[in-house]
Amino acid sequence: MDSGELRVFQGFRVQHNSARGPFKGGIRYHTQVDMDEVKALSTWMTLKCAVVNIPLGGGKGGVMVDPKELSPKELEALTRAYTRAIAPLIGPEIDVPAPDVYTNAQIMGWMVDEYSKVRGMRVPGVVTGKALDNGGSQGRDEATSQGGVYVLREMLKDYGLNKPGLTVVVQGFGNAGSHVARMLAEDGFEIIGVSDSKGGLYCKKGLHPTEALICKTHTGSVGECFTAGDTCERITNEQLLELECDILVLSALENQITEKNAAKVKAKIILELANGPVSLEADGILKKNGVLVIPDILANAGGVTVSYFELLQNLAHETWTAEEVAKKLEPVMVAAWKDVDSTAKQYKSTLREAAYITAMKRLSDAIKLRQGL
Ligand code: NAD
Repeated sequence: MDSGELRVFQGFRVQHNSARGPFKGGIRYHTQVDMDEVKALSTWMTLKCAVVNIPLGGGKGGVMVDPKELSPKELEALTRAYTRAIAPLIGPEIDVPAPDVYTNAQIMGWMVDEYSKVRGMRVPGVVTGKALDNGGSQGRDEATSQGGVYVLREMLKDYGLNKPGLTVVVQGFGNAGSHVARMLAEDGFEIIGVSDSKGGLYCKKGLHPTEALICKTHTGSVGECFTAGDTCERITNEQLLELECDILVLSALENQITEKNAAKVKAKIILELANGPVSLEADGILKKNGVLVIPDILANAGGVTVSYFELLQNLAHETWTAEEVAKKLEPVMVAAWKDVDSTAKQYKSTLREAAYITAMKRLSDAIKLRQGL
């Protein structure tokens, strides 16, 4: 520590499955990280990579720490120590970490540097989510939202639901939420509600996502972005989830729709950009009420897909333009949607069940081929 004191932090790296390719998954810095959580998150990564059919497996890591309590120098020392500890287990062909909760491009930069020292050569492909000038990829920031938009568009087309002016509510106006609102508004959707942890905003005549983002930057919350007399009003997060709309995008946290509020959801479609925003019990209620849920492992897999593109660029010593990245992302997401949709029809299942069936089948095929079963 800066004081000269020695502190010991506990960290984990879980490698869930590599039957389809190197382990892939983020590293989280949080006081409540534990082995069970990291194991569960790594399993999710295996399934996510399989559902979009990219040749990667699942991993996840974490360190039990409150990063806000550390100085930048202490954060760097912690990151370098963690990297040295897991260095024998990671590498572009073995296991490729990335940012997750409270880790970022700077932390990835320290990891590349420390790992490269251990290996005695520069190895940018050891992690993804790096800054652009340090081997990062164009399009990574908006990849999760972009992937979700590609899937949503395809679904609306295939189900004959595509009509102008469909209304959208976005819970969680952060990175994923603000990008998806902007992209959907550009596509002609009407964004009528947005929220963040401090509150929500409902504009029955629609709102402009870019203006809402500028306002949020000034005021600290989109909930503050209304003026008396106009068509917007401040609402709570609970009210936001129950608004009358065509599409509800969940891009905040896990367990937002539960058995308590699922029956009150009036949206026709839910797009899960967050991981696990709908609880198991809520899923059953939504199914009964005919709400179509585009599941997280499909809807938000654009993020890991562009991370895979970052790895490919590093290994080939290439840099792709934003247009090239988008052009490569779209067919991956569209193919994944088609696979999940046809599986849902074959098994008469929900899209979530179909996404799991698709992923598990690919995984079991890979394992059988390896083991000659
Ligand atoms: P972020 O921190 O930028 O945004 C999260 C937003 O949710 C913030 O604006 C926060 O204020 C808001 N929020 C928190 N609690 C809320 C609540 N109770 N009600 C309404 N809003 C609330 O994070 P992000 O990167 O946009 O990620 C959002 C979700 O998407 C997370 O669950 C994350 O795991 C998932 N995800 C993100 C990516 C990615 O590439 N960014 C990839 C896969 C999954």
